[in-house]
Amino acid sequence: MMPGAVDAPVAPPPYAGPETDVLVVGAGPTGLMMANQLQRRGIRTLLIDRHAGPSRETRALGVQARTLEIYAHLGVVHRALEWGKPGNGADIWADGRRLARVPLGQAGAGVTPYPYILILGQDDNERILGDRLRELGNDVRWSTELVAIEQSTDGVVATLREPDGHTRVVHAKYVAGCDGAHSAVRHLNGIQFPGAPYEHVFFVADVEATGSMVADDVNVYLWRAGFHLFFPMRGVDHWRLVGIVPAALRDRKDLSFDDVAPSVKGVAGIGLSIGSCSWFSTYRIHHRAASRFRAGRCFVLGDAAHIHSPVGAQGMNTGLQDAYNLAWKLALVVAGKADTALIDTYAAERMPVAQALLRSTDEGFKFIVSDSAFAGLMRTQIVARVAGFAMMFRRVQLAAFRTVSQTGIHYRKSPLSDGTLPDDAPQSGDRFPWLKLVLDNGGAVEDLFATLDDMRFHLLAFGQPLPIGLPDFGALLATHEVPAGGANDAALDRARIPRPSFYLVRPDGYVGLCGSTLDADSVTSYFAETLHMR
Ligand SMILES: Cc1cc2nc3c(=O)[nH]c(=O)nc-3n(C[C@H](O)[C@H](O)[C@H](O)COP(=O)(O)OP(=O)(O)OC[C@H]3O[C@@H](n4cnc5c(N)ncnc54)[C@H](O)[C@@H]3O)c2cc1C
Repeated sequence: MMPGAVDAPVAPPPYAGPETDVLVVGAGPTGLMMANQLQRRGIRTLLIDRHAGPSRETRALGVQARTLEIYAHLGVVHRALEWGKPGNGADIWADGRRLARVPLGQAGAGVTPYPYILILGQDDNERILGDRLRELGNDVRWSTELVAIEQSTDGVVATLREPDGHTRVVHAKYVAGCDGAHSAVRHLNGIQFPGAPYEHVFFVADVEATGSMVADDVNVYLWRAGFHLFFPMRGVDHWRLVGIVPAALRDRKDLSFDDVAPSVKGVAGIGLSIGSCSWFSTYRIHHRAASRFRAGRCFVLGDAAHIHSPVGAQGMNTGLQDAYNLAWKLALVVAGKADTALIDTYAAERMPVAQALLRSTDEGFKFIVSDSAFAGLMRTQIVARVAGFAMMFRRVQLAAFRTVSQTGIHYRKSPLSDGTLPDDAPQSGDRFPWLKLVLDNGGAVEDLFATLDDMRFHLLAFGQPLPIGLPDFGALLATHEVPAGGANDAALDRARIPRPSFYLVRPDGYVGLCGSTLDADSVTSYFAETLHMR
């Protein structure tokens, strides 16, 4: 498949009218997640993409645990698990020898129901999200490009170029710019995108190959000036190969897989036999972050807001979580249930995540591509062995897993995070931990990630009754007085949840408010003053 190839055009859904609540620009993973989350919350959503149909390029490959947790709430995790392959481990090779094996299959045991990284191509992720959106009664309007935007205090007038070449005007209350690295929403709002390109050029190839690679593991071949990664894909001997184009070939415009194959064979050793290559693409990566994530009624998310090296398989996942962060807030504002101050917290929470990601992927990338002899020696002789050894320790394994899986991301400094508990307890701004508890006296143990839905807030009271006088928040809040005893005590001790305590969990699974003694006033004032609910 050539870069840019797409499925046969799909008949576009009819416009609901010249007006919509949210115009989502771009039907990559970020836009599809955004449209799904808005649609299930009953928000009128128009999702457009300038391409003629879904992309069939694999591109991003690693689906992190935090994304799978969101997929579970969306009702699509079974499909992702059916189509993907859990990465069991990483084998690190240098100079024809296997230096270390890092077990990954259970790295996050106890942290999440999905304690691994799932290998599933971006095209499959997009297909899963697109199918779900159709089930929810919406679809992408393909061959439709955003070309102009005019903002006023009460809405956005967007000019779209239609499949027949004509332009059409749509009035939207808000615009979600999920339109990738060259984002029109970002440009049209004059949002800067500072950063720089790297000199290195990546290549990606889908190949049938046999060789020293350990089946079902990620195989990392380190060489003095770079690396080659083999990711196991669905099917027999099917690998996704990612690597650095040798410096001498960097400026060639017409590269094919045959040009880079000799360098791959040189590194992956004798015995590597490549049967066929079904997709080959090169790309130069940049590290950039938008100077603002919001301009009036327009937002930027995903690659439109931040791009970085693919080290750590974070790109697609970060975009999906941008959308998950913004969607519930925007839905409340559009429905008239919260003031617009709530949506300011999207940038306040997601910009620090993007900036930290840029820093860590930049450091990691520079190290793995540094041409210096010292870095080459470190990479091929020292680091692999040290990493392999360190990862034998559970504490190191867990810390690494929390970072890479994005389950460790927190919003402790967010304006939405309020309340205190002892330092070793989960804090406001943390992702509420994965727990199995008895919620009803005498009832069965429940998996809280399955029981606590993501369409409302959940107030959990531990070691104390729910307070009298809690206002009725209707469908917005569910309350749970968690009984003490046996299995619950042990699970809460493991998670370092003190008693008495309480946690108010946001729809996206993060703790908004927490504390020791629960009273109706603090919950009421959190909803009114911190969340700006009406
Ligand atoms: C070759 C390649 C390999 C990659 N490999 C990896 C990897 O291994 N790991 C990783 O984490 N990441 C990888 N990435 C990056 C990853 O693909 C992105 O992070 C991810 O696609 C971001 O998703 P998105 O939805 O934010 O943007 P995109 O996927 O770029 O989607 C944006 C969409 O917006 C549409 N659009 C743009 N402008 C307009 C407009 N004006 N009007 C209407 N529609 C518009 C586009 O057609 C596109 O469909 C790779 C990228 C490339 C190019």
